[in-house]
This record gives sequence, C-alpha cells and structure tokens, in this order.
Amino acid sequence: MRSNDDLKALIRTIPDFPKPGIQFRDITTLLLDGPGFAAAVDRLGELAVPLAPQLIVSIEARGFIFGAALAKHLGLGLLPLRKPGKLPGATIGIDYALEYGHDRLEMHEGAVGPEMRVLIVDDLIATGGTALAAVNLLRHAHAHVVGALFAIDLPDLGGAELLRTQGVLTESLFA
Ligand code: 5GP
Repeated sequence: MRSNDDLKALIRTIPDFPKPGIQFRDITTLLLDGPGFAAAVDRLGELAVPLAPQLIVSIEARGFIFGAALAKHLGLGLLPLRKPGKLPGATIGIDYALEYGHDRLEMHEGAVGPEMRVLIVDDLIATGGTALAAVNLLRHAHAHVVGALFAIDLPDLGGAELLRTQGVLTESLFA
C-alpha cells in the first residue's frame, strides 16, 4: 500500500517546459510505475463512486490515459473530448481562451443523452480554462456534470476554485 506522498513523488517537475518560467508536472514517471499508476486509478475510483457517474468524459490528450483506466475500473463508457478536426462524425464544440491564444474541444453530436450523469477526468487542473470549457460543452448538450477529477491540482492557479464557483464538485489526488 503506497501513501499519497509516495504517489506524488512519482510525478516529476521539469523546469522551463514548454516555455521558460513554466514548471511542468510530468506524469509519465507515474505511468511507468505499474503499482503506482494502479494505486492512482484506484484512488480516482474511490472519489468517483459516490458521484454515481454513468459515463467518464476525458480531455485530450493526457486525460485519456486516466479517463480510460478509470472507465475500465468502473465498468463505464468513455467519451473523449478532442481537439478540432480529429473526430470523423458530425461534431459540436466549444472555443475557449488560453493564456496566449485559444483552443477548441469537440465531441460527436448525440454522444451524451439528456441528464446523463457524466464525470470529467483530466491529468491536471491549472487555470481551469480547459475543464470549464468541457463543463460548458457537456451542459450545452444537456448532460449532468456530477464532478471533475484530476490527478494533480495547481491550487495557486485557481482552477479548482473556478470550477466550484460554477457548481462543479472538483477533487484531485495531489496538490
Ligand atoms: P488549464 O486549462 O487548467 O490552465 O490547464 C490544464 C490543461 O493543460 C490540462 O489539459 C493539462 O493536461 C494541461 N497542462 C497544463 N499544465 C500542465 C502541466 O504542468 N503538466 C501536465 N501534465 N499538464 C498540464
């Protein structure tokens, strides 16, 4: 059994990536550790079960890793939210602002049913802009967002707080 501190120690911080001044949290070292990755998914599962989700929604690209593992763990389906132009069918999408520039998330039309209980999963929340775009897209599709789970929260950037002000239950494994 690993403590939370043991798991957190598997995430390394790389300075000045992708730009000078950014302290990038690298999850690939956690993924390389089989028992560590499994324990992280188990803990996400413990946070997810009380929320009674019917579908896991994950965000491209690192969110797919945790989202897919969690969906399998819970026996649920997975809805991947993708960057523009990747999905083959008819899509709906949402544009959102980044620190510099903007981005877009898309999903297939009809992928979620009205009032379906969906749980958002991503590797990390920083400013919360990406996760909030996911929330807004899902709500636009009339889904019920039961929460948002992250492996890592960077609390100084306020993203988890932002999501909570929008009525989204937000939890993470490590801050
Ligand atoms: P936000 O929109 O909350 O500012 O940024 C979160 C998004 O950017 C997530 O999809 C996450 O994958 C990515 N991201 C931003 N900073 C980092 C980081 O330091 N490490 C990792 N692994 N992802 C990051």
